[in-house]
Amino acid sequence: MNRIAVFCGSSRGIDPEYSRQAKMLGQLLAQKNITLVFGGSKVGLMEDLSEAALQAGGKVIGVMPRLLHEKGIGHPGLTEMIVEETMHDRKMRMSELCDGIIALPGGFGTLDESFEMITWAQLGIHQKPVAFLNVNGFYDPLKHLVNHMTTQGFLKTVHRDMLIFLPSINDIIKQMKEYIAPADGKWIR
Ligand code: AMP
Repeated sequence: MNRIAVFCGSSRGIDPEYSRQAKMLGQLLAQKNITLVFGGSKVGLMEDLSEAALQAGGKVIGVMPRLLHEKGIGHPGLTEMIVEETMHDRKMRMSELCDGIIALPGGFGTLDESFEMITWAQLGIHQKPVAFLNVNGFYDPLKHLVNHMTTQGFLKTVHRDMLIFLPSINDIIKQMKEYIAPADGKWIR
């Protein structure tokens, strides 16, 4: 696991624990010599995460779509900033750059990005683990919905089980290292 992409809120949320865990994750990635790949902005949890990684001496790559980069909200002190034309190009680039994905608490953007990654994993487009850091039960409703999709016949157990939901960063990284993707993509016999 050399590079991890982290998707997280462009806001900080109301529970200070979100910010604390974002900083802890940034620091831990740096300590483990894992490069952080993230959305590139100096706002919300993205700022907490990236600042902590940089301050701990870690490598940090930001990937922004031009539209957002032109708004001047890019983090100026990153190891590398990659500007892509569209949101789609950006997600593609982030997925290519990383060996695994972690979602911290966030909003639409965080869910969109993490679910695009899990959808690609389900189709067998990549074999990278996708994990949700369940800070103070933030992702419990999502876990519930995913189980509901399974019991209602929209999601196979094997694909549900690809997702990692855990409250501890260390446990997440350990599970990501041990992750074995399902043998076949959804539509491959
Ligand atoms: P949200 O969860 O809606 O706050 O969106 C956060 C996610 O969407 C992050 O993981 C980013 O990749 C992306 N995103 C949303 N807003 C921005 C922004 N201002 N700058 C960079 N990325 C953003």
